[in-house]
Amino acid sequence: MSTTTTSTATSYAQIPHVIGGRKVAADGRTGPVYNPATGEQTGEVALASAAVVAETARIAAEAQVAWRETGLVKRQAIMFKLREVIANRADELAAIITAEHGKTHADALGEVARGLENVEFCTSLMHHLKGEYAEQVASGVDVHQVRQPIGVVACITPFNFPAMVPLWMVTTAIAAGNAAILKPSERDPSAAVWLAERFAEAGVPDGILNIVHGDREAVDAILDDPTIRAVSFVGSTPVAQHIYTRAAANGKRVQALGGAKNHMVVMPDADVDAAADAAVSAAYGSAGERCMAISVAAVVGEVADEFVAKVAERLGGLTVGDGADPATDMGPLITPDALDRVTGFVAGAEGEGATLVVDGREVTVDGGGFFIGPSLVDHATPGMRVYDEEIFGPVLSVVRVADYDEAVALINASRYANGVAVFTRDGGTARQFEFDIEVGMVGVNVPIPVPVGAFSFGGWKDSLFGDTHMYGPEAFQFYTRRKVVTTRWPDPSESQISLGFPTHH
Ligand code: NAD
Repeated sequence: MSTTTTSTATSYAQIPHVIGGRKVAADGRTGPVYNPATGEQTGEVALASAAVVAETARIAAEAQVAWRETGLVKRQAIMFKLREVIANRADELAAIITAEHGKTHADALGEVARGLENVEFCTSLMHHLKGEYAEQVASGVDVHQVRQPIGVVACITPFNFPAMVPLWMVTTAIAAGNAAILKPSERDPSAAVWLAERFAEAGVPDGILNIVHGDREAVDAILDDPTIRAVSFVGSTPVAQHIYTRAAANGKRVQALGGAKNHMVVMPDADVDAAADAAVSAAYGSAGERCMAISVAAVVGEVADEFVAKVAERLGGLTVGDGADPATDMGPLITPDALDRVTGFVAGAEGEGATLVVDGREVTVDGGGFFIGPSLVDHATPGMRVYDEEIFGPVLSVVRVADYDEAVALINASRYANGVAVFTRDGGTARQFEFDIEVGMVGVNVPIPVPVGAFSFGGWKDSLFGDTHMYGPEAFQFYTRRKVVTTRWPDPSESQISLGFPTHH
């Protein structure tokens, strides 16, 4: 709570909640929002109390009654419009993301595009909400199943994708006929407010997408609110565990995606230049603040020296700076705390017995931004903090392994299992890897295997608590309840009393 302040009139942009179609100012506590490239506070975000959450849930529940009755054709038309109003102003949204998150404008545009993929998927919502029908299951008896919305659902999102992850969640929840309460990260909350304006412009009625900003107080109020029937979460593993446990204990449906430590296996037959290009792109893009970032390269056999040299050589060519500058390859970290944490991993690597090949602390950027350059750590091993923990910064660790089996055993022993990649020219090795590896999303010569929108996204183990993945087909499953109806139209003359258990014979 050290960053929390009491609301006062300042020159900062005031970032309000959006509840029932109205912008609602802070009712008490607020939090600071920074431009990470300059270190300056630029905004002040409202932090909701439990009372604000309860009132929002009430308004959402009221609005959901009519939204549920809105025809599917009309809802589809709204999804098409939503796609257009966001796509037409993607540059504006990307600039908002860069100003509060720090990622480059090009990367922010990529985030918007991946979020829009799910809006595009939801334009065919009727297909995904279609039920099933079995005629004549017994003489004169038919059975059909319909999918109905859950009611009010909450979506709690992380700082690292302030537009994409909200678009994954709220779009599907709303397409399926629910009302959504989005609790975005308090570090970069403005993108959510912007999105709420676009949903309204596209025709989503007031009260169907509500934005409630806040920290743990608001989140715990969401988890305990009896009106909210389901919770989708993306964030770090300890918080994901908390969300999963408390929401489930309160009888809610919950999916909670957690942290990651994604490995990339480089086989001796891989094209080493292509593997080095992929490793640099996937480890240092967005300053490593991606849940699908590569943070470990498990390099097999003698190719390790060449791989490390080629990655190090490429790092010298990266430009670190303000994400708003088109010349920048890599922006700052999100907060001073994140900078301290990442710096600590780099500073401690050699003391743990690893080799610091490239030291990001040597990169300096003028101004007060939260910058560290890309770092490369060689000879990392399990048991070192730099290997075991999620760093969430621009640090790639290399683990040298003797063979394929050792690489697979290393990865399968990790508590995290979000994404993984194998680089090889051998189809048999790739196929065996796909079969053996205990990770939710696998790339074959693809370093960031985020599934396209027609599939769903999710890891295994401590990277996902719950059983349904996000966006795509599984999201329609998560945000709907199945109801099965058994029908018979007997002739009244056939009516009789039977106390036996009904069978279909
Ligand atoms: P975080 O867990 O700190 O915060 C996520 C959300 O939870 C935010 O809305 C925040 O306000 C809230 N929150 C934070 N602390 C809380 C607490 N103690 N109790 C209740 N709510 C709390 O995560 P972050 O730093 O915003 O995001 C980075 C993390 O998210 C990384 O661990 C990253 O791997 C993970 N992530 C995972 C995926 C995935 O798909 N698995 C995707 C993106 C990010």
